[in-house]
Amino acid sequence: MTAPDLAQRSRAAVWHPCTQMARLANVPPLPIARGEGPWLIDTDGRRYFDANSSWWVNLFGHSDRALHDAIKQQLDTLPHVMLAGCTHEPAVRLAERLSARTGGALGHVFFGSDGASAVEIALKQSFHSWKNRGQADKREFVCLQNSYHGETLGALSVTDVQVFRDAYDPLLMRAHIVASPDARRGNEAEALAAMRALLTERHAQIACVIVEPLIQGAAGMVMYSPEYLRGLRALTREFGVHLIADEIAVGCGRTGTFFAWEHTGADWPDFILLSKGITGGTMALSLVLTTDDVFAAFWSDDVTRGFLHSHSYTGNPLACAAANAVLDRFDAGLLDDTRAQADRLTRAFAPLAGRVTHLRQRGMILAFDVPNAPARFAETFHLKARAHELLIRPIGSTVYLMPPYLIDDTTAAFLAQAVTATLNDVLA
Ligand SMILES: *Cc1c(COP(=O)(O)O)cnc(C)c1O
Repeated sequence: MTAPDLAQRSRAAVWHPCTQMARLANVPPLPIARGEGPWLIDTDGRRYFDANSSWWVNLFGHSDRALHDAIKQQLDTLPHVMLAGCTHEPAVRLAERLSARTGGALGHVFFGSDGASAVEIALKQSFHSWKNRGQADKREFVCLQNSYHGETLGALSVTDVQVFRDAYDPLLMRAHIVASPDARRGNEAEALAAMRALLTERHAQIACVIVEPLIQGAAGMVMYSPEYLRGLRALTREFGVHLIADEIAVGCGRTGTFFAWEHTGADWPDFILLSKGITGGTMALSLVLTTDDVFAAFWSDDVTRGFLHSHSYTGNPLACAAANAVLDRFDAGLLDDTRAQADRLTRAFAPLAGRVTHLRQRGMILAFDVPNAPARFAETFHLKARAHELLIRPIGSTVYLMPPYLIDDTTAAFLAQAVTATLNDVLA
């Protein structure tokens, strides 16, 4: 099957995500046959560096031996069992290990299927825990401007990215959308003041604030300081409101610590959400970590005070086995290595600073903005990059890299050269 054939069949039969299908003729999907480390190889044998880790999930690149072995072993033992009425070692072990990474502060782990379901779970748990405590009025949610928390209706209600939200706006819950911090504008203090103003007025009705720690990903890799998060933790404590740290994108070592929250040095949030990288791009899984306090609010003889939420594949053993294999890498000192990798990216991309604006980086996320970008910049950049063996999808006029943790001097130099060459083509 040659590449154009497969792309054409896909266009007819597969409704692609996050895609205006009418544009697929201009931007045919790459027919990928296999993956090897950071490379994706198409059906004609051409290769592309997966610069965004296939939507931020492939921490160790493709076809990672240790992950595959863990899944194969689990496959031959127990591929699935329901987690209501049963339990199994991979789930228990995963929950224990994640809890230990918070020093036991977030010691209760609920399993979901993907990022959006984790967001839904945390929002429901927050509301329901207040209700069980006799504070049913606390039913409003707060998110930040330009936030992204997924695209099911509940998650979209706390998302403020117009392209995803606008069409469905009439269907959504009315969350409070508060000014967001952005290091490019240096407005962290103002953003906190806006949050204080809202919490002062509405704290009796507000269940929780949800935030993407340090980096608003889908907004275009908007970065801000841990100082803001310390302030937000203090404010949410002061006003008795839960804080949900959505680490679906920034968890699992992306920022240089396992949880991005660790950069704050503040006490833990009430919820941490993980997905994307937690299985290294092998199985769909998400996790909602929460505190004794939230957990205790559901503890009762009354069934309806329990959290009666479920997904069919909740706690799937294959996914848990993959996640445990990912944690093994962190236990073996992966973070020291990713910090060295991040430094290589810094050095390789430094020469671009004169040509672009706001070249910025936090750990293994590097981004810059392209001034005076031409119309359809993101699509054009993505297409032109293919000729330079690069799979990359800018957001608006922001180009970013979120590569697999496989950056040595060669791959760092390759990425800088391929991105620069693509930029030259697009701006020519
Ligand atoms: C990707 C993402 C989600 C949604 O995850 P899905 O698995 O796509 O549903 C939620 N929050 C953040 C911060 C994300 O990056």
